[in-house]
Amino acid sequence: MNYTVMIPAAGSGKRMGAGQNKLFLKIGEHSILYHTVSVFKEDPNCEEIIMAVKPEEQAVIEEILQPHQHVKPITFVKGGGERQNSVAACISAYKGKSIVLVHDAARPFLNSAIITKLVHTANEKGAAIAAVRAKDTIKYADGGTVKETLNREKLWLVQTPQAFQYELLKKASDLAIQEGFLGTDESALVERMGYEVQVVEGSYDNVKMTTQEDLAIGEILLARRK
Ligand code: C5P
Repeated sequence: MNYTVMIPAAGSGKRMGAGQNKLFLKIGEHSILYHTVSVFKEDPNCEEIIMAVKPEEQAVIEEILQPHQHVKPITFVKGGGERQNSVAACISAYKGKSIVLVHDAARPFLNSAIITKLVHTANEKGAAIAAVRAKDTIKYADGGTVKETLNREKLWLVQTPQAFQYELLKKASDLAIQEGFLGTDESALVERMGYEVQVVEGSYDNVKMTTQEDLAIGEILLARRK
């Protein structure tokens, strides 16, 4: 089943402390962004890529992705101040009516089996997210004091991609903007409308490159893939 992927890539990656957009940092020979887009370039079901970028970075991003652009059309849109605004810009640029995926540009180690599961589940049920089971015990704390120990059996660490029937995502995004709600993922926007979101088991490899330690993990994951 075909889908379009929306990739927010307009962040600054302050936690990486690289002094530049972390997506330009290399893992092996290629940048994080190159690796992320490669997954979609190689997936025959991916029809189109819509990417939110900072206007001043578009030229360098186009250069990085030049080998991909011959294979898959990439539409660039202007990113916003928050991740949610960048995704909203992608949604506005989308012309179709099918399944859409939102995937962080900073997650280069996605595999196509997860994409397939997400697309099928979203097609059937409306909304599906990739997540992995929590390995650690997770506690809710306030002001440095533990308030609650959460039941690990029911805890999931949520990743992207997140897949949606387009109309549902559009409605959720519009409503969140209208009501001034800022979420850290698209699922939260859909959940707050009372809609059920399905969990699809993702992969621990699908790490978001956030800090320097993640880059070291990325090198290991890349070597293992080879
Ligand atoms: O900062 P973080 O890693 O959580 O960002 C997740 C993704 O959202 C990254 O790929 C980043 O480039 C993107 N982003 C964006 N626009 C923003 C902030 C983040 O496209 N304003």
